[in-house]
Amino acid sequence: MSILVYTESEEGTFKKIAQEAVSYAKGIADKMGTHVTAVSINGDESNDLGKYGAEKVLNVYNDKLKKFNAEAYADVIAQAAKKEDAKVVVVSSSANSKYMAPLLAVHLDAGYVPNVTELPESTDPFKVKHSVFTNKAFSITEYKTDIKVVGLAKNAYGVKESEATGTTEGFSPKLSSEDFSVDVVSVDKATDKVTIADAEIVVSGGRGLKGPENWDMIENLAETLGAATACSKPVSDMGWRPHSEHVGQTGKPVAANLYIAIGISGAIQHLAGINASKTKVVINNDPEAPFFKNADYGIVGDAFEVVPKLNEKLKEF
Ligand code: FAD
Repeated sequence: MSILVYTESEEGTFKKIAQEAVSYAKGIADKMGTHVTAVSINGDESNDLGKYGAEKVLNVYNDKLKKFNAEAYADVIAQAAKKEDAKVVVVSSSANSKYMAPLLAVHLDAGYVPNVTELPESTDPFKVKHSVFTNKAFSITEYKTDIKVVGLAKNAYGVKESEATGTTEGFSPKLSSEDFSVDVVSVDKATDKVTIADAEIVVSGGRGLKGPENWDMIENLAETLGAATACSKPVSDMGWRPHSEHVGQTGKPVAANLYIAIGISGAIQHLAGINASKTKVVINNDPEAPFFKNADYGIVGDAFEVVPKLNEKLKEF
């Protein structure tokens, strides 16, 4: 019996959420007195997943799996879980994995809980804490199934190093035409910069910035901090910024360590998407802006004065 973890990669390179998922799986394995097997689909062969606690890495290489396909990936991971007699399968809570994991659970006749934030508080019965209602509340759920699929919330557990062998092994699952009933025609990458999903820090601008010509100061601050840039919905609706930067209830979710909101009022639909961020800093010239009630730190001031000064100061570090 092992804990299986699916490690997401992009163009062969493992994502940070993959390292975090392995670290988390190792935490569960320690509690259950077992080991971690990672399954990688077209990931880097010279991976260092052992560094995060994977005892074994099953490498699947298949040209048909070059593009993410939820049905096919679910089948591959289910076959790996059966091969390893895994009772717990850990996946990330990325958009792709949230699409794939329910299909995986069907293959394994398993229960699936997404957005899990901590190690299980008990493994027999197996109970997990997970965020609900767009991170406004937590729920503890007990699995009633023999196999459990656990969807780890991004940035909830963190990447932890722990020595394991990370022995690699080739794995060739059987795939049928049924696995490809839906075909991903193309995937367009919006930007080469730090993506919102992977970012530790996100600098986000709202309508208070008056126009797209003023985004240099957001870009500059983001560059200083190694951050991704984001925006509120009206900003992308007006075409000031690309839709790929829109965060909130109807945009991308953000679970960064630091979220800096500049000229954003803090409407409930915006907050719904960024609530999972650990520290929120708000810069707004209206002391009554609702965002301040939700912020860890706030600066009441004109963004056009505050942001360049803040950037200059940060560059000194
Ligand atoms: P505003 O509300 O106009 O706020 C601008 C802020 O900038 C103000 O607080 C103002 O005080 C401040 N400001 C102005 N000048 C300065 C200055 N010089 N320096 C500093 N601060 C300044 N919104 C989202 O963001 N994401 C979503 O996913 C989303 N989904 C939605 C879904 C639905 C169904 C609906 C109905 C709405 C949704 N919205 C969403 C829209 C949301 O309700 C708000 O309208 C929107 O978030 C407001 O964007 P904003 O804060 O940029 O603009």
